[in-house]
Amino acid sequence: MLRFFTVLKICFLVLLLSHPVAADDYAALRKNLVERIAADVRATSFYLDKTVLDERVMQAMNKVPRHKFVPPQYRHYAYLNRPLPIGEGQTISQPYIVAIMTDLLKINPTDSILEIGTGSGYQAAVLAELAKQVYSIEIIESLQTSAAKRLANLGYANVKTKLGDGYFGWEEHAPFDAIMVTAASGQIPPPLIAQLKPGGKMMIPVGGAFLTQYLILIEKRADGTVSTRQILPVLFVPLTGKH
Ligand code: SAM
Repeated sequence: MLRFFTVLKICFLVLLLSHPVAADDYAALRKNLVERIAADVRATSFYLDKTVLDERVMQAMNKVPRHKFVPPQYRHYAYLNRPLPIGEGQTISQPYIVAIMTDLLKINPTDSILEIGTGSGYQAAVLAELAKQVYSIEIIESLQTSAAKRLANLGYANVKTKLGDGYFGWEEHAPFDAIMVTAASGQIPPPLIAQLKPGGKMMIPVGGAFLTQYLILIEKRADGTVSTRQILPVLFVPLTGKH
């Protein structure tokens, strides 16, 4: 009997997920996701040293249509608080991680931001809601091309992307008010520190592939020296390239 109900439940879920979702439903799913992020922030306040994120960050999370950044076959899962595959063995990060990394950078509307690891373009879109200009570098050509197209179609005119190894930053547009690295690096790339403005902040997952990684918040002081703060353990795909 129990098995019968389980099968019935699975059939119901499959039916629900295969039904086209209206724009209003996506907005409702997004609102639920934002509430979920808020709950996760409260639950992890010990690591974050705060119980709520900046209202502007939460508004951006509530605005950016994550379902447009995931492949069609995963669209129904777009508003689950989890990473999803985007092809080429890469992932779109978990929304909670996107929200806390964005929040810790304390972005102002006049800021110029560098992101390493464009992936789907989702994190760049969230940053673009908060900053004046976002520069984003992706090392895999097919991902860079499709993210650039997606961001343009969605009207994110303040995001510029390029194909390249983000380890070396984007000298032409430096210095940046903030830098966000969305792939795990074995070390903090010195070129990125050099391209950060005095007073600027950088978020980066540091650690080996499939080993313990920590999200690190770096602040560059006026005299050029840096302070680092370990936030929480994470699991990111590795920063690749020949560096
Ligand atoms: N920010 C992305 C998003 O919102 O979808 C998710 C990023 S995914 C976790 C990490 C991305 O970093 C992948 O797309 C990967 O190809 C890219 N990447 C890895 N090494 C890189 C490098 N050296 N330079 C630029 N991008 C890199």
